[in-house]
Amino acid sequence: MVESDAVRVLVAGGGPAGMATALFLIEHGVPVLLFERGEGPHADPRAATYHPPTLEMLERSGVTAELHERGIIARRWQYRDRREGLVAEFDLQSLADDTRYPYRLQCEQHKLVGMMERRVAASPLARILHGVEVIAVTQHAEGVEVGVQHANGRSDQFDGRWLVGADGGRSVVRKSQNIDFRGFTWPERFLVITTTFDFETLGFAYSSYTMDPQEWAATFKVPGDGRGIWRCVFPTRPEEQESDLLDFEQAKARLAAFVPESRQGQVIHINLYAVHQRVAETYRRGRVLLVGDAAHVNNPLGGMGLNFGIHDAYSLADCLGCIWQGANDALLDRYDRQRRDVAERYLQAQTISNKKTLEESDPQRRAMQQAEMRAMAADAAEARRYLLRTSMIEGLRTAATIT
Ligand SMILES: Cc1cc2nc3c(=O)[nH]c(=O)nc-3n(C[C@H](O)[C@H](O)[C@H](O)COP(=O)(O)OP(=O)(O)OC[C@H]3O[C@@H](n4cnc5c(N)ncnc54)[C@H](O)[C@@H]3O)c2cc1C
Repeated sequence: MVESDAVRVLVAGGGPAGMATALFLIEHGVPVLLFERGEGPHADPRAATYHPPTLEMLERSGVTAELHERGIIARRWQYRDRREGLVAEFDLQSLADDTRYPYRLQCEQHKLVGMMERRVAASPLARILHGVEVIAVTQHAEGVEVGVQHANGRSDQFDGRWLVGADGGRSVVRKSQNIDFRGFTWPERFLVITTTFDFETLGFAYSSYTMDPQEWAATFKVPGDGRGIWRCVFPTRPEEQESDLLDFEQAKARLAAFVPESRQGQVIHINLYAVHQRVAETYRRGRVLLVGDAAHVNNPLGGMGLNFGIHDAYSLADCLGCIWQGANDALLDRYDRQRRDVAERYLQAQTISNKKTLEESDPQRRAMQQAEMRAMAADAAEARRYLLRTSMIEGLRTAATIT
């Protein structure tokens, strides 16, 4: 059966990028039907850092205010050296003239998705279907038709005017349009160990990156049940077995080798992730658009992937809102040019550079990098320039200049 009510936008995927797309579309008065194959937000530990522009975009819906109630403000972040300790500390107050939110806000991704979902579900313009997987896409001059499978195995079809693929890195929507996903996969996987040990007692900022040629670490605090817990991300060697990496005793030992005092805390989760750097060859094929991880994937160092997906959603919803009011759909080609360009120039470049900095093995180059960081952190104008880039403000300003 085809459910035909084509005057709406279909969204495949209710993760951060899909839910943000739906939220921003209803702010523009555009009707939305969203399909999510899961029954609710995935609670595995993934993103948790929101940069200033993301907080500005989520302001109107009230999500930013709720994030402030439930999250942790990280005004400073650090570069550290595994042997030497603190290298440089950056204070985001340097951006006070550039943004209303001169800090990072840290709160688990699934809580953010829940906040957006409640607002979308409350809108008469939106409908969310859970337990519904998009499996096929066809498009014609006037619209798009998607084939879905319900959790009970039943099949259905739905019509819409446009389809947004927000269905993550393995996007069925992207594959249905034969859109190449160019880039590479790192040989090592990343291990995320969550602990109750409070790294602040050792002088760690709520977000810290520790350099080391053998085993770097990224540590950051998230609210957890309210008392605060810490996530530690480590690289692994390709030959390490998954069963060893996911073993609690081995995880405790890895953490203790990094910070011996961590034995005072409890390891509460261990997760292992494959890490990719890829960008779709186009974000638009006719009436099918891509946002979020469906369009680009990157390593998590710098906390940019989810934020970038929300910025895609904001930009795309703005274009579709104008098209709903009668604008030419060539706006969507501009969406592709702007967002894809900055995905390559900022998201990919910055996250690859962050990883290389942390793992630099040449002692001279490492010493030089550390000296540069200290000098940057000590010079207000230089610090501001660097923070504009790492806080994702520069990329958005650049995107706005692309015609
Ligand atoms: C360890 C780790 C740490 C990270 N830290 C950060 C960070 O601090 N900051 C940051 O910005 N990013 C971070 N990221 C990246 C971030 O988690 C992702 O960029 C983000 O989840 C992408 O959101 P998305 O909505 O595009 O995709 P996803 O989160 O993958 O969501 C896709 C959704 O679509 C659904 N779906 C999939 N296929 C279908 C289908 N066919 N039909 C219907 N539904 C479907 C899925 O169930 C899912 O809900 C991190 C990632 C990892 C792995």
